Amino acid sequence: MDSAPHLPAQLAQLQRQYEDLQAEHEALQARHQAQRASADAWLAQRTRELEAEAAEQKKSESLQRVFYRIAERAAAGLSFYDFLQTGHQLLGELLYAKNCYICLYNAERQTLNFPYYVDERDGDVMQADHVPLRRGLTEFVLRTERPQLIDAARFRRLQASGEITEATGDLSFVTWLGVPMQLRGAIGGALVIQSYAEGVHYTDSDADVLAFVANHFSSAIERYQAIDALHKSEERYRTVIENAGVGVVVVQDERMVFGNPRLARIVGHPLDYLLSQPFTRTLHPDDALTMVQRHRRRLRGEPVEPHFSFRIITRAGQVRWLDLSAVKIEWEKADATLLFVVDATARVEAEQAQRITLQKQVELNETKSRFISMTSHEFRTPLAIIHGSVELLRHYEDRLPADKKRLAWTKIEDAVDRMTRMLEHVQAIGHAQAEPLECKPVPVDLADFCAVLLDELRSVMGVHCDRVTWQVELPPGGRHYLLDEALIRKIVGNLLSNAVKYSPDGGVLRFSAREAEGQLLFCVADQGIGIPEQDQASLFQSFYRASNVGPIVGTGLGLSIVKEAVACHKGRISVSSAVGQGSCFTVVLPLWTAGGPSPLPLATLPPPPAMPPFAESPQ
Ligand code: ATP
Ligand code: MG
Repeated sequence: MDSAPHLPAQLAQLQRQYEDLQAEHEALQARHQAQRASADAWLAQRTRELEAEAAEQKKSESLQRVFYRIAERAAAGLSFYDFLQTGHQLLGELLYAKNCYICLYNAERQTLNFPYYVDERDGDVMQADHVPLRRGLTEFVLRTERPQLIDAARFRRLQASGEITEATGDLSFVTWLGVPMQLRGAIGGALVIQSYAEGVHYTDSDADVLAFVANHFSSAIERYQAIDALHKSEERYRTVIENAGVGVVVVQDERMVFGNPRLARIVGHPLDYLLSQPFTRTLHPDDALTMVQRHRRRLRGEPVEPHFSFRIITRAGQVRWLDLSAVKIEWEKADATLLFVVDATARVEAEQAQRITLQKQVELNETKSRFISMTSHEFRTPLAIIHGSVELLRHYEDRLPADKKRLAWTKIEDAVDRMTRMLEHVQAIGHAQAEPLECKPVPVDLADFCAVLLDELRSVMGVHCDRVTWQVELPPGGRHYLLDEALIRKIVGNLLSNAVKYSPDGGVLRFSAREAEGQLLFCVADQGIGIPEQDQASLFQSFYRASNVGPIVGTGLGLSIVKEAVACHKGRISVSSAVGQGSCFTVVLPLWTAGGPSPLPLATLPPPPAMPPFAESPQ
C-alpha cells in the first residue's frame, strides 16, 4: 500500500500530459487548416491565372491564324474586292464585324474612296469613289491618326466640341470603332467596324485587335496598289505601242518575240504567223543574208548602221520596202533587238521611178547627140555629092557631054535616095519606139520562114549579097515553133544585112537557126571588118556606130531594133568580135508554148563562139 499516496499525483501528471497533448494536437490541426486554406487559395489563384493564360494563348493563336490567312489570301491572286471581302470574313472570326468598311484617302485630292462597304443599315454593299473629305467620323480617325472608339455619348461630345460636324450614314450605332491604316509611310485610309446591336460594345482590346488587322490589310493593299500601278503603266505603254503608227518588233534568238498590230499590216502577214516563224521567213531572199548578218553583229555589240531599208514579201506575194531603225535591248533578261519599221514602198518606188526617168532623160540626151553626130556625118557625103553635081551642072551644063550630065543627075538621085532611106529608117524606129513592140507568137515552119527571109534580103541588097560565101544551116522543114514573125524578121533581117554590109571584102557568112537544149539559137557570123572592143558595149544603143565603119553608110539604128525585138520575145543577144577578123551575133530565144515563154536559164546559155569566127580565109 506504499504506492497509494503516489497514484493521484501520477494521475494528475497524466491528466496534464493528456491536456498538453490535446492542446498540441489542436494547435497542429489549426495550423494544418490554415496551411490548407492558403494552399487552396493559391491553387484557385493559379487556376485562374492558367485559365487567363490559356484564353490569351487561344486569342493570340486565332489572331495569328487570321493574319496568316489574310496574307495567304492577299497572295492568292484574288481581285482587290474579293480579297477585302475575304478579309472581312476573317475579321469576323476575331470581332463582331457585321458592319465594316475600308476607306482609302487621297491626300492630294482630299477625297476618300470606299473600295469596300458593308452595312446592315446604310446598304449591303456601297462602294464609292472620290467622296470629298468632310469632318466626319472617318475623317476624325485620319486626322487624329489614332484608333477611335466611339459610343453615343462620346459622339455627342465630339459633335458638341465641333470635332465632328459632317458625319453621314446611320449614326444610331451602339459603338463605332475606326483605326487608321498606314500606306507607304503615311496615313492612307481607315478600317472601320460598327455595331447597332445593344449587346455589342467594343473595347480597347478590340481596338488593338482591329489595329493589328488593319496593319495586315495595309501591307496587302500596298501590294495591290503597286500591282495596279504597274498594270496601269503597262496598259499605257501597250496602248501607245498598239496604236503606234510604226511597226514595232522585238527579235530574240532570230525569232520575233513581240510585234504590234501595225507590224502585221505593214508586213502583210497575220501577227501569230510572224511570231511563230524565224524572223527571216518574210524577208526578200536578196536581203535575208544581210539582215541576219546585221542582226548578229548588233547583238555582238559591233557597230551597225541603225537605219536602213530592206524588202519583205507579203502573204499575197507582193514585195514591200520597209525603212528600219534598230537598237539592242534586254528582253526578259536576255539580249534582243528592238526594231521600228515603216512601209517605205511608195517612197522607194517613187525614187526608183525618178531614177528611171532621169536615166531615160540621160539616154535620150545621148541618143539626141548621137543622132546629130550621125546625121551630120552621114548626110555630109551625099550632100557634098549633090552640091558638087549641082555646081558642075550649073557652070558646065551646055559644055558637058550628055553621058556626063546623066551621071551628075544619077549621082544627085542616088544621094537623095540615100538620105531618104536614112530618114525612113529613122522614122521607122521612131514609130517602133512610140508603139512598143508586141510579141504575138504563131506556129511558124522555121526552115521555110528563114528561106523566105534570105530571099527578101537578097532582093533588097542585090549584088552585095553575092560578095560573101553563104553557109546556111536550118532545121529540117516542117518543124514548127511558136514565133512572132515580125519580130524574127527584124532580128534576123538586121543581123544578116549588117553581116553583108560590114563584109566589104567578102568572106564566109554563116547563118544558122536551130533548136538546142530547149531553146532556139540564131547565129550570124561573118569575116568582115569586126568591131573594136571599146565599141562593143554600146552597139545596141540607137544611132551608135562603131569607130571603124569608114565609108559604109548606116544610121546606127538596126541593132537597137534587134535588141528590143529580142527582149520582146523574152530572149537574149550577145556579140563577139575582133577587128579585121569578123563578128558573131548569137540570139537565144525561149521555146514558147500556149502558156507563154519557157524560162531561159542562165546556165544553159551556149558558150560564146570561138574567136575569130572562122579560122581560115574564105575560098
Ligand atoms: P542601120 O541603121 O542602117 O542598120 P548601122 O548598120 O550602122 O545602120 P546597126 O545595125 O545598129 O547600125 O549597127 C550599129 C553598128 O554596129 C554599126 O554601125 C557597126 O559599127 C557595128 N556593126 C554591126 N554589125 C556589124 C558587123 N556584122 N560587123 C561589123 N560591125 C558591125
Ligand atoms: Mg545595120
